[in-house]
Amino acid sequence: MKLKLIFLLLVMACTSISCAQNNAISFDEDKLLERMEILSSDKFEGRRTGEKGNDSARAYIIEQFKALGVSGYNGTFEYPFLFEVRNREFNATNIVAEIKGSEYPEKYIVISAHHDHLGVSGDKIFNGADDDASGVAALFSFAEYLTKYPPKHSVLLVAFDAEEIGLRGAKHFVENFDNDKILVNLNMDMISRSAKNELYVVGARYNPALASILDDFESPNNTKVLQGHDGTDGKQDWTMSSDHGPFHMADIPFLYFGNEDHKAYHKANDVFEDITPQFYKNAVAIILSIFKSIDAVSL
Ligand SMILES: [Zn+2]
Repeated sequence: MKLKLIFLLLVMACTSISCAQNNAISFDEDKLLERMEILSSDKFEGRRTGEKGNDSARAYIIEQFKALGVSGYNGTFEYPFLFEVRNREFNATNIVAEIKGSEYPEKYIVISAHHDHLGVSGDKIFNGADDDASGVAALFSFAEYLTKYPPKHSVLLVAFDAEEIGLRGAKHFVENFDNDKILVNLNMDMISRSAKNELYVVGARYNPALASILDDFESPNNTKVLQGHDGTDGKQDWTMSSDHGPFHMADIPFLYFGNEDHKAYHKANDVFEDITPQFYKNAVAIILSIFKSIDAVSL
């Protein structure tokens, strides 16, 4: 009788621990900020595609993935490609990390952000803190979470290059991947700065399954999750505004997460010191939570 009771208490305790784990924030918030600060620091010289700062930032990103115990897709992190703009040739490199799914390893959820930014102009470094060091640092939080709690579907964590030169990295990826294997693209670009504490999510209107997940979704914190900027509300339509665009063009479902444009957008003062730290932590927790809802079902 006593043993049975102890067993029952143990089961109850374990259940409540696992509940707590599911609901708790499952990434290191201080590390999120720390990595974002490093990525947007002057030493990476604005991370412009084809330049030295972009190369060093790429090395930093791969080093972080490795330290978190995440492997490159198909044995390598680096996917280089060439493209031309007005007779000028660019070398660019996407970074692709993979976490194998436990139940549907052949199906992929692609979580993305872009690692390039605008570089240096005159004596000004364009640090691109919100755009998009915020999204790339969030990829590391996903890596932390997914190595602890393996996903059902395989996950690719992708840091695209050359977003600022016309979504080139995402285009290259979509043209070279077996797109039938991709369930959805979750793209993060500018998720760390909102005076109004509002995170926009775009793309659910194109996919009924995503729409119903979002309709049922409750924010796990006090940041508002707004659907809009999607061609339905008279605001600027963000359907093609970042790397989710090429996925949409290839008929792959997507959700894009971002905050409203601000006065530092594409300016040299898009710096770490001016982000909204609590909003940023909340935004990453929200995106992680939406990822969990998607991974729990099969779209
Ligand atoms: Zn961007």
